[in-house]
Amino acid sequence: TSFGFKTVPEESKESLVKGVFDSVASKYDLMNDASSLGVHRLWKDSLIDTLKPGRKGPLRCIDVAGGTGDIALRILDHARENYADRETTVEIVDINAQMLKEGFTRFKKTMYHNTPQVSFHEGNAQELPPSQFKDDSYDLYTITFGIRNCTSIPAVLREAYRVLKPGATFACLEFSKVNNPLLSTLYDQYSFTVIPLLGTILAGDRDSYQYLVESIRKFPSQPEFAQMIRDAGFSTGGDFDGGAWTDLWGGIASIHTGVKV
Ligand code: SAM
Repeated sequence: TSFGFKTVPEESKESLVKGVFDSVASKYDLMNDASSLGVHRLWKDSLIDTLKPGRKGPLRCIDVAGGTGDIALRILDHARENYADRETTVEIVDINAQMLKEGFTRFKKTMYHNTPQVSFHEGNAQELPPSQFKDDSYDLYTITFGIRNCTSIPAVLREAYRVLKPGATFACLEFSKVNNPLLSTLYDQYSFTVIPLLGTILAGDRDSYQYLVESIRKFPSQPEFAQMIRDAGFSTGGDFDGGAWTDLWGGIASIHTGVKV
């Protein structure tokens, strides 16, 4: 395509997820705001606050399942606004060309357009093409609200570990498990009724949003996911927050970090 996307061989099991995001791509940002009442923005800001990209100098970042580039934009803005850093780069990788296209269009309105600071790549988180995404080459790997859509979480973590430099950081923001029973009940009500309804009204696509809600249910709990991160070879805890993860809003979402040892 005109974006210079490099296509990787695609597995058939991924086609469902691709279809889901194809059908929601153009409405994705709107739906994100509507379904989370804008809260996903605060959570993304929390992730950036945790990581403070640029604090220790320019970073080479990879944002996987990067979609329309929310995290990439925040990383670049944070580095520039706080540390006058215009050398940090973010490579946005997503399996879905439609999402990348939305992101590309959005970045046209920013100062990063047509600079080496941002680039868009079509690819599968579970098998990043090694010729393009080399071993030991990134300072920061981020994945937000993306890993739960992947068929194999261990495969994603293995690839994250492979492409990060030793000592570099893995960070994941994802929907998680609510511990408080009252909050959990309210949240269930909300996600199984309000979100598919909003999907129907705003995007004309109830099934895709139903799928997204169900994928949240199936995702491992915070301690289980932290163990998977350690199983991939990362150390967790102590680096950013004194633990392997930080719950946001009682565990509706959580931030997990790991360091490649
Ligand atoms: N990170 C963005 C954000 O936080 O706004 C987008 C999140 S969106 C809910 C999930 C994204 O994951 C979609 O853009 C989808 O195309 C992408 N995705 C799903 N499976 C993937 C895979 N196996 N490899 C790469 N991207 C994938």
